[in-house]
Amino acid sequence: MKVFKFGGASVKDAPAVKNVGKILQGFPDDKIIVVISAMGKTTNALERLTEAFFYQKPERKSILEEIKAYHFSIVKDLFSDENHSIYDSIENTFVELEWATEGFPEHDFDHEYDQIVSLGEILSTQIVSAYLNQIGLKNSWLDARGLIQTDDSYRQAKIDFVQTEKNVQDAMRLIQFPGQISIAVVQGFIGGTSENFTTTLGREGSDYTAAVMAYCTNADSVTIWKDVPGVLNADPKWFNNTVKIQQLSYQDAIELTYYGATVIHPKTIKPLQNKNIPLLVKSFVEPDAEGTIISDGNIKLPTPSFIFKVNQLLISLQPKDFSFIAEENLGNIFLLFHKHNVSIHMMQLSAINFSVCVDNNESKISGLISELQNEYKVLYNDRLELCTIRYYDQNTIDRVTENKLVLLEQKSRYTVQLVMRNTK
Ligand code: ASP
Ligand code: MG
Repeated sequence: MKVFKFGGASVKDAPAVKNVGKILQGFPDDKIIVVISAMGKTTNALERLTEAFFYQKPERKSILEEIKAYHFSIVKDLFSDENHSIYDSIENTFVELEWATEGFPEHDFDHEYDQIVSLGEILSTQIVSAYLNQIGLKNSWLDARGLIQTDDSYRQAKIDFVQTEKNVQDAMRLIQFPGQISIAVVQGFIGGTSENFTTTLGREGSDYTAAVMAYCTNADSVTIWKDVPGVLNADPKWFNNTVKIQQLSYQDAIELTYYGATVIHPKTIKPLQNKNIPLLVKSFVEPDAEGTIISDGNIKLPTPSFIFKVNQLLISLQPKDFSFIAEENLGNIFLLFHKHNVSIHMMQLSAINFSVCVDNNESKISGLISELQNEYKVLYNDRLELCTIRYYDQNTIDRVTENKLVLLEQKSRYTVQLVMRNTK
């Protein structure tokens, strides 16, 4: 069994969907679970729709129309027969979307969000599955809401692996693997609770779904098909002369993605590492090119890799009574960070000062800071960047700190992290 994941960009229009078909035709002898994200920027549009519905804004209708027109234009390009059943299937999904966004919200924002936003993946999988059938790639459409069982932490749902593994294995038994059908199509990003409410796994969570499907089926490999040739040593959006990394260890992949490499979702690695399943990152534009392989082992990156997290905040805490920052203080500080759901990217401790670098997420930070202020003098610097260099050398440090003021620096044997500000 192989698991393939196609993200939004790889199904953003009719030619892209056709390309997915072409890639799959290159694997006639494999059983493949195909995990698909919402088409193009649909998730963003559905987020806007959720807000318009929740806050009862007039744009609700036009956003809905926009999403509908976009999907129908792709369907028209793919299916010339207007009596094809896909027209009815997606019409039905739009009726569901209409219902979900009509009247007044009944639940809190995050709960409503998941019921609405998840439909992007339902639409994309309906379309891709029907298209693959049309070109002779017979496949079975699976509903992730009944497979990926989660708790009810809406928008950040946690997977119940034991139940999910059972659900997925049962579903696989029902598909005629091996037989005429060798492809299953399933939504990324979404799951369901034991009460049959839909949940989502966090933005960009389809990679994670692919890893979970692989975990549950003991797959041979996962391939994430991207618009880049593989994992690069820096983000090509910001830097020229990036190099593609051929091989990467799970550990390095986690370090790089956790600190901002957006090429794969950081949660993807753990389920794969746990079952020693290799992860391939390949180009959907050049499917025969080698890409990057992420696997177990002692593979040192051949070149320094660096990633940036922007919009960072450096918070400095000093006990008001001039006491030391001792373990008891630290315990309380961490509890507050946890309570406000603020993750710490880097920290530094001295006798009476504790500095932490975090995402500058206004809505979470203001509550945290006001609680910290009860006990501590709180200072902060905003508009910072955190740069993480894995397998650093002086050249790379000089390159990334050009025209920057470094506020905090930490070096370990393999990694250097710099909190800095633009001076230009
Ligand atoms: N469609 C979801 C998103 O855009 C999940 C994904 O693309 O991985 O966040
Ligand atoms: Mg995506």
